[in-house]
Amino acid sequence: HGGDDPVCIGSDAESGRLSAEVQDTGPGIEASELVHVFEAFRQVGGAASRPFEGTGLGLTIARDIAQAMGGDISIRSTVGMGTCALFTALLPTADSPVDAAQPASPEQLSATGCLCRVLIAEDDDVNAVIATAYLEHIGVSAERVNDGRQAVRHALREVDRPDLVLMDCRMPIMDGMAATREIRAKERSLGLPRVPVIALTATTSDINRQLCLNAGMDDFMSKPYSFEEMTCRVNQNLEMLELVDRLHHLANVDSLTGLYNRRHFFEQGGVRHGSAKNAAQPVVVAMLDIDHFKSINDRFGHANGDIVIRFVADYLRKHFPDALIARIGGEEFALFSESHTVEVLRPRLEAFRELLPLNTAEGMPEEIKVTISIGIHGGHNDNLNALLHVADQRLYEAKAQGRNRLVG
Ligand code: GH3
Ligand code: MG
Ligand code: MG
Ligand code: MG
Repeated sequence: HGGDDPVCIGSDAESGRLSAEVQDTGPGIEASELVHVFEAFRQVGGAASRPFEGTGLGLTIARDIAQAMGGDISIRSTVGMGTCALFTALLPTADSPVDAAQPASPEQLSATGCLCRVLIAEDDDVNAVIATAYLEHIGVSAERVNDGRQAVRHALREVDRPDLVLMDCRMPIMDGMAATREIRAKERSLGLPRVPVIALTATTSDINRQLCLNAGMDDFMSKPYSFEEMTCRVNQNLEMLELVDRLHHLANVDSLTGLYNRRHFFEQGGVRHGSAKNAAQPVVVAMLDIDHFKSINDRFGHANGDIVIRFVADYLRKHFPDALIARIGGEEFALFSESHTVEVLRPRLEAFRELLPLNTAEGMPEEIKVTISIGIHGGHNDNLNALLHVADQRLYEAKAQGRNRLVG
């Protein structure tokens, strides 16, 4: 500090305190006036004389900002010599962007496993620059649009949909509320997942929050917001997204094998069967059941039984990556394909059945030779349940004929 430089900037790495001193060579301020300079609507020389432009709010606002940033502004002055203003603020240093005490960190963000894309809809350039810098700091890529119309377009686009939208409420052409309402309406009509929207508001009144919620927004940030608040809110919203994904996974995937479950098989298979039917294209279904599995459990224990089920599931997945396969019951699996004929799938299933007992999995007792019975059926014009019923009857025939065989 000091010297002849009109502007001096210093920082203390340990405390993160940045200070900036600005020295002028103006008329200076009397000590009696100096005590009032931060008062709102106050100008040196009194309201009557008004020798200078402005409303007298500048210093009041500047000090509020400095205090909001953990610092302050102070002023020293000598009449006839000039005035010196000192501004301080607490800022994170570049090498330690987020310290350990802070609740959210870039590490936590990446822990959500999300390489996220955030859309910033903000008409004010400075606000957009701040939001972009904060987001980049927490390792999230940001894209900016200037108005609500563009926000709607970007939020609904087919490729590279954003994972999260920061939506300024006041924007030209279309405001943030209207844009969010439109996004929600289109998501419903197009069956798209709901993108989280965080409102960026200038006011935090209850009525404003209510309007945001009614428009379909999920969260709010009032401007100006800190880096920490942005990190927390972005984190929270992205974690919520991941929870929804996880819930979806839990509802559709069998936890023992990682194959789809019965519920997903009928949902997905039903849709795919419907499309194939519209295209007058035959489909193939197969039912597979492990032979004498009860005795595997009885002889080797349930834990080994589980290993066997996983082994069969992995083997199925490896042989039929191009079909919809699922574990639809204890030791029963189903297969659906609209892309192959029964003539193509029959020999492939036969090969699978023949190879199965020759293989083993890690941790599986060597004496276990797993065999499987299969019922297969190809056709069209029926519903999926009817097709599976035929395959199931053929599976029972295969069991009755002595197991370890394919019927159909
Ligand atoms: P079949 O050749 O006629 O198919 O005879 P099976 O013994 O395989 O058929 P059954 O339906 O009598 O027995 C199936 C057994 O599978 C009964 C059940 O206890 C067992 N089971 C079902 N789910 C699981 C599971 O998740 N883990 C284990 N270890 N066993 C299971
Ligand atoms: Mg705006
Ligand atoms: Mg069985
Ligand atoms: Mg069974």
